[in-house]
Amino acid sequence: MKLLVINAGSSSLKYQLYDMTDESVLAKGLVERIGMDSSILTHKPTGKEEVTEVSEILEHTTAIRKVLDKLVDQEHGVLNSVDEIQAVGHRVVHGGEYFKSSALVTPEAKAEIRRLFDLAPLHNPPAISGITAAEKNMPGVPQVVVFDTAFHQTMEEKVFLYPIPKVLYKKHHVRRYGMHGTSHYYVSRIASEYLNRPLEDLKIITCHIGNGGSLTAVKDGKSMDTSMGLTPLEGLMMGTRSGDLDPAVVTFVMNKEELSISEVNSMLNKHSGLLAISGSSSDMRDITDGLEAGEPNATLAFEMYEYRLRKYIGSYAAAMNGVDVIVFTAGVGENSAIVREKVCENLTYLGVEIDPELNKIRSGEPRRISSPNSKVEVLVVPTNEELVIARDTLRIVEENR
Ligand code: ADP
Repeated sequence: MKLLVINAGSSSLKYQLYDMTDESVLAKGLVERIGMDSSILTHKPTGKEEVTEVSEILEHTTAIRKVLDKLVDQEHGVLNSVDEIQAVGHRVVHGGEYFKSSALVTPEAKAEIRRLFDLAPLHNPPAISGITAAEKNMPGVPQVVVFDTAFHQTMEEKVFLYPIPKVLYKKHHVRRYGMHGTSHYYVSRIASEYLNRPLEDLKIITCHIGNGGSLTAVKDGKSMDTSMGLTPLEGLMMGTRSGDLDPAVVTFVMNKEELSISEVNSMLNKHSGLLAISGSSSDMRDITDGLEAGEPNATLAFEMYEYRLRKYIGSYAAAMNGVDVIVFTAGVGENSAIVREKVCENLTYLGVEIDPELNKIRSGEPRRISSPNSKVEVLVVPTNEELVIARDTLRIVEENR
């Protein structure tokens, strides 16, 4: 079966076309600047040259039509006909408490995703645009939604509730949900396969650190705790997000600086984290360059980032009463040897010992970076959220045939 995986953002749309007979990617690409005067479509058919096209794409329906045109294009295409696409899988950020796993798109499912707009105002509306656009362009083709939050629905009440008046949970669903679930799910499974040890025997801490970042304590294969909460702002210090802080900082700053709700939201989500402390960049590559050059602000940003990450690892080791495996993934986790080195340097009390040479290797494959003496296995596992979406889409379409 051939299926299309779509990840729709407010002004962007990423796609991958899979042939599920061997899980190969036939083509992938990205439409950027949707709704602006010049949109850019970048299309990469496997084994062929990448092509870029600039045009006016005002909404997601046109974006998907352009993508489908490229997929059947004489020169850059990989399909004879759009009819070869037998299913579409969509990434949706927030599934609330309703979606505990992936689901077939039905009118009820769409209504529920709409009801969750309140909890994910930036992320769920574009997902609905993507679904509607795919329905218009591919009528009758089954569609599946895969949620970032679903894997974390196994968290217990004592973990997911905030210690605030319970009426807020009942009335407004204020609780911790967690994000990056498909990635935490995927890398924990790959870690178990790589080590040839059953998930039921493992206490795993998965560190998904990219622009955004979250950690998950995976016990018996299930998410026991995760660092993001109601929204992706809680937890680690990130590229432009603050992560954890005293909630009173928010009201204090709003009062002193006379900030509105949207201004304080923007401050915490877009102007904090590495960017705020370094004063120059949210990109870990720039921060580590600054660290190596001895630049004081970049050094401080790096040290805060590493310290906060390490504290979370310690707290999840405490939550699970131990840790067998630490997995690093996503942009920073897969690529930054120095972040991994510095974090692990101060985890010797857990028996963590990494091999500096193994830590430097880049392979694009799951690999061990801990030394044979280490009491904890430390792995780097490239994440693949699209593959999880593709597999879930196939499974759900087959179950509903
Ligand atoms: P997103 O969270 O947007 O999905 P990614 O997981 O792709 O992002 O991570 C992107 C981030 O990864 C970049 O902002 C950059 O900070 C970091 N990154 C990528 N390559 C490197 C590298 N070689 N060294 C350090 N950081 C890197």
